Amino acid sequence: MKIDRKAERVKKIKLSEIRKFFAAARLFPGAINLGIGEPDFTPPKHIIEASEKAMREGKTHYAPTTGIPELLEALARKTRRDYNLSYDSGSEILVTVGAVEAVFLALMATVNLGDEVLFPDPGFVCYEPVIRIAGGVPVPIPLMEENEFRIDAEVVRSLITDRSRVMILNSPHNPTGSVLTYDDLSSLAKLAVEHDLVVISDEVYEKILYNDACHYCVATFPGMRERTVVVNSFSKTYAMTGFRIGFALGPSDIISAMALVHQYTSACVNTPTQYAALAALEGPQDFVYDMVHEFDRRRRLVCRRISEIEGLSCVVPKGAFYVFPNIRAFGMSSERFARFLLEEAKVVVVPGSGFGEHGEGYIRISYATSYENLEEAMNRIERALKSLK
Ligand code: PMP
Repeated sequence: MKIDRKAERVKKIKLSEIRKFFAAARLFPGAINLGIGEPDFTPPKHIIEASEKAMREGKTHYAPTTGIPELLEALARKTRRDYNLSYDSGSEILVTVGAVEAVFLALMATVNLGDEVLFPDPGFVCYEPVIRIAGGVPVPIPLMEENEFRIDAEVVRSLITDRSRVMILNSPHNPTGSVLTYDDLSSLAKLAVEHDLVVISDEVYEKILYNDACHYCVATFPGMRERTVVVNSFSKTYAMTGFRIGFALGPSDIISAMALVHQYTSACVNTPTQYAALAALEGPQDFVYDMVHEFDRRRRLVCRRISEIEGLSCVVPKGAFYVFPNIRAFGMSSERFARFLLEEAKVVVVPGSGFGEHGEGYIRISYATSYENLEEAMNRIERALKSLK
């Protein structure tokens, strides 16, 4: 008999449905991929050159655990500029291996065995498995289409128990593109204070907003700075996903606990990458503006085409680069529907169920691909769905 060598903590998690789906999609060459969760842009030259220059100058050694001082100071300035919030670069900021590591560290640093952690469902795929790895109990907060997929504080209130310890927020939101309003955040902040919750606020899409949508950093609300870990990244804003760099801002007790775990897992973030991130923050920001402008053009195309296809409908997203159309009229599970689109339309989308139980009945379309690809993909989807009639 084969010996079971896997630790129990690993058995509690499974491969993301999205990964499984992408593996299946590889068998369909020529399929247009609308499943992608990263910008299709290349970072501007000055960012790439900064990492090359760092390497040539011999900045090829370990960096300090929490990050190079120049970057930590630039992050403190950015946060002051954007949100009028002051964080001490020596004790309240940590540079991480993307937002994914920041979420991992924040949960490892704050969750005790059996603590309940509230998180949005549908939501980004890493929250639930990491809550489990940290020993916590995942408590999904259902997001409803009727509420434009925004978190309803009253729903959260009904889920709070004496074991609730952490609440994860994510706005702008993956996979729905929803953006929490000032009033939403104000009510959620009051709840967090009332129930003494730590809030992990994943703000990686903070700059990807459309029309009059505004992003409010949750740490700016009364009583929140001392209980919030703000998680952010260079991945989306500067199209730097492969550089693997993000950061966390928070009170020094939590940041120092996160730095301890970071020390014994990653030791530090890749040194040349930190110089690239510094160049991203300090250099011209027109790249971000142009990228968001192009995303907006694509967003309008996809939403218009969805509204023209019988049986499909969507809440118009206000941020990020995803649309989350309702597919219930077709009477199929989201997984079957996505498989149908893959086989019949040669278009890859992600089944909503891959983002949690409350994602069932929806699919995620990412518009992080060219306008031409989107036009062709929407034509193919329309044709395939018509054939069902
Ligand atoms: N949070 C959310 C909500 C995301 O959508 C993603 C990427 N898909 C991440 C975090 C991960 O970002 P990073 O590349 O910085 O690890």
